[in-house]
Amino acid sequence: MEMREEIHVLKRELAKAVELAADSEAKYKACVLDPVPVPVHSAELAQLRDDVARTKAALHDATHCVVCMDRPRERMLMPCSHFAFCTPCVADVKHCPLCNQAPTGHLRVYNS
Ligand SMILES: [Zn+2]
Ligand SMILES: [Zn+2]
Repeated sequence: MEMREEIHVLKRELAKAVELAADSEAKYKACVLDPVPVPVHSAELAQLRDDVARTKAALHDATHCVVCMDRPRERMLMPCSHFAFCTPCVADVKHCPLCNQAPTGHLRVYNS
């Protein structure tokens, strides 16, 4: 191979290499600037959903009537002071389900 021809081939290879390097540098920069979001593991997501559901259920139980589990608490039994009943249910309570005392009456409780 002639010297001039060899130089020509080497120059073309060098140009190709520079092009490749620029291309991979651009790709590398794109990766750095626009990182792939970390995927949330599906088991982790299921655990979070479960936690939210259990917290909601616990909150519902803590604020709703222990008899019907449906209406909000608004009546406190006398004399045991257990505040765990809605107005329709409290009339039927013969023994407090929390302490088993027989109620002598009840009070309306206001939250606000
Ligand atoms: Zn009730
Ligand atoms: Zn009670």
